[in-house]
Amino acid sequence: MLGVREWNIKCGKELYVVESKRDKWRAKCYSRNPKCNNNFRSDPPCNWYVYAVKKKNDNMWQITRWVDSHNCYGTVVGNNNRSLKSRDIATRIVHNMREDISYPIKQIRAFIKDQFHVDISYSKAWRARKEAIERIYGSWESNFRELPQYIAALQAANPGTVVEWLHAPARSSECHTFTYVFWVFGPSIKTFLHCMPVISVDGTYLKGSYRGKMLIAVTKNANKYVVPIAFAIVDEETVESWTWFFTQLWVHIAVHRGKKLCVISDRHKGIINALKNLQVWSENSVHQFCLRHIRSNLMQKFKVSRLKKLCWIIGIG
Ligand SMILES: [Zn+2]
Repeated sequence: MLGVREWNIKCGKELYVVESKRDKWRAKCYSRNPKCNNNFRSDPPCNWYVYAVKKKNDNMWQITRWVDSHNCYGTVVGNNNRSLKSRDIATRIVHNMREDISYPIKQIRAFIKDQFHVDISYSKAWRARKEAIERIYGSWESNFRELPQYIAALQAANPGTVVEWLHAPARSSECHTFTYVFWVFGPSIKTFLHCMPVISVDGTYLKGSYRGKMLIAVTKNANKYVVPIAFAIVDEETVESWTWFFTQLWVHIAVHRGKKLCVISDRHKGIINALKNLQVWSENSVHQFCLRHIRSNLMQKFKVSRLKKLCWIIGIG
């Protein structure tokens, strides 16, 4: 089918599928489509036609009727060919996307123009790009489904890695859903013992259909390089999710440190409350606010660029 569509596209024609079944496929010229704008109807009607059947023995399609030439003027409007589907474009670009996952829409449009001399719309290129990404990495749904296997693989490949799941009450025996998942890599547990007793925490958005947040804790080593120590995926940044995160962080990492810790973060209520309410943290840590966040709050309020530098100097001084 892709071959037939591409043949038409290269001829500058469009087709419409009259019949598409498991074992037969029939298409005519788009000018024969009842929905086609009257201005494009040719007289006599265009003869182009294809009929293909699926062979029972070898599972391959065979064209059994083919009327070769279009005797119409064509129906393509604005050089955007309807027969060029986003899934076909995905097939064409999936190789490039594997090389460079950030392959931009602009380049996809230029590539298709070069290959087929067709101008595709931004939205068609966007859909094609999305489909190509799904073919490489799977869909958002399948990614979430595979998360337990992925985390298990992380654990198998990194000895000492700790994973904690918080499951939602089961709606059925087959489908378990999780509320939060937390993990810390084995080497991070050991590394933290030799790093500064300072932990910076923050949350970031997860992209895609399901949103959610990723909570991260990092520290710095003696060379002042950032060392990630713990991760969690949660639904939202709330007092509950941060409290759960800090509870896990204490049990699996911080407790081994045996020293007073310093926690640096922005002024998120979830973090402030968690550190205040959890006894182990309130007794064993001091909480400081991140200067970068303070400066950005200040700039939002006063919008005087000279203050930006002064704030930094006061903060680190
Ligand atoms: Zn035609």
